[in-house]
Amino acid sequence: MSENVDWSKYVSEQEKLVTNKLATVNIDQNAQPSTGASGHKPKLGNDEEQFSPAEVSLLQKIIRNGLVENKNDLEVQRRDPTSPLYSVKNFEALNLRQELLKGVYGMGFNAPSKIQEAALPTLLAEPPQNLIAQSQSGTGKTAAFVLAMLSRVNPNDKYPQVLCLSPTYELAIQTGEVAAKMGKFCPDIELRYAVRGEELARGSRVEEQVIIGTPGKVLDWATKLKVFDLRKIRVFVLDEADVMIATQGHQDQCIRIHKNINKDICQMMFFSATYDQEVMEFAEVIVTNPVIIRLKREEESLDNIKQYYVKCANEQQKYNAVINIYGTVGAGQVIIFCHTRRTATWLSEKMSKEGHAVALLTGDQTVEQRISVLDRYRNGQEKVLITTNVLSRGIDVEQVTIVVNFDLPVDVRGQADCETYLHRIGRTGRFGKHGIAINLVDGPNTEAICRAIETHFNKKIQFLNAEDADEIDKIGA
Ligand code: ADP
Repeated sequence: MSENVDWSKYVSEQEKLVTNKLATVNIDQNAQPSTGASGHKPKLGNDEEQFSPAEVSLLQKIIRNGLVENKNDLEVQRRDPTSPLYSVKNFEALNLRQELLKGVYGMGFNAPSKIQEAALPTLLAEPPQNLIAQSQSGTGKTAAFVLAMLSRVNPNDKYPQVLCLSPTYELAIQTGEVAAKMGKFCPDIELRYAVRGEELARGSRVEEQVIIGTPGKVLDWATKLKVFDLRKIRVFVLDEADVMIATQGHQDQCIRIHKNINKDICQMMFFSATYDQEVMEFAEVIVTNPVIIRLKREEESLDNIKQYYVKCANEQQKYNAVINIYGTVGAGQVIIFCHTRRTATWLSEKMSKEGHAVALLTGDQTVEQRISVLDRYRNGQEKVLITTNVLSRGIDVEQVTIVVNFDLPVDVRGQADCETYLHRIGRTGRFGKHGIAINLVDGPNTEAICRAIETHFNKKIQFLNAEDADEIDKIGA
């Protein structure tokens, strides 16, 4: 590999690589959802849609356009009470090399996120300090460990020093892109992806200082092909630990990689969006004497949501209601949830035929199609996103003002699924952000479900006449 690679050029080369690859591959073949992992399986309605935790995590990353707000307090624990704890309120206080600081500001980051305030001083501490961090997706974990990874590199040493494991090809690329942006002004730091499609000959050597890859490929490179030496790794990052656990075989592979690392010289960083016993047991194996940082997920609530129901006699009337609502939303964005892929596809085709710009996200699309759909929606190129339950959790696009339940969420027995309802329309930011939820009710059954939801949350769901443009106008946020 050539030295002094221009990172900005590298970004575009990687993008090309990704685009080419995503065009030809579907889901990571290695990423089979495990049946054994508890609590990590995607929630299933009676719909046929089933996304693996890795896919859900990727979609969340794609659709996000900034930090997720979280007003909970950070919880910090140390096994060793004598180790100092610091918190920083700005990036300057971290004594980063100037080029890295420039990269951070270049990404539009002004101040550390809540999790970064505590994680960064720990990650950058001398002597290095092991860390376990748990917080929901979107709170700044990736940015934190990528910054730590880059700042720990000795650019003069031309061998892998930093290893980051991600559960899938796509998630590895997402992390690599963050590294490429942050390291844009550090041409002396080079990155290598250890993912499928990256083939190396036996006897060749990896010279890049940073490896980001999936466990299977990394194991292959390190133990079979021996193209780099795990004993020289000084920073080991295990990202998306909960997804690793939920992906067949990955946890074992991670542990096998970890076994070959020299614990005396290597700093361990372990990240997860969820925190349960299984994750903590995994963490115990990987990380000794850690600082543990937790930021609990903020409870979603319906407090700032105006909820309505619209009476419709049949699907056509439901369709008309959607069109009337859509016609009056103005600047906001809409998400429409359908019960099945069939309904979602039907609705999107019908709306498109009549000239409405809508985006459709379902389980049968390729990764590339999904990324493109969500990119366009996030950028506001399409104001309406039609989907099934796939996205009910974790969607926190701030500009979404109206959520339409074309079909109300029900469980396998056909009863009101209040948890999914809350995930679809609830918000976490307690201040400011208002939202509107509109439930389409098409008979006594769905009306009863609507009532059950109303009773469950003890929050009024008001009647809305969707034929009356003035009335719809009035609900506008
Ligand atoms: P996580 O790994 O927890 O999912 P990320 O590190 O991917 O979170 O961050 C989520 C989003 O917030 C990304 O779009 C990222 O660019 C942005 N972000 C991260 N840290 C900051 C920060 N300090 N200031 C502003 N935006 C940030």
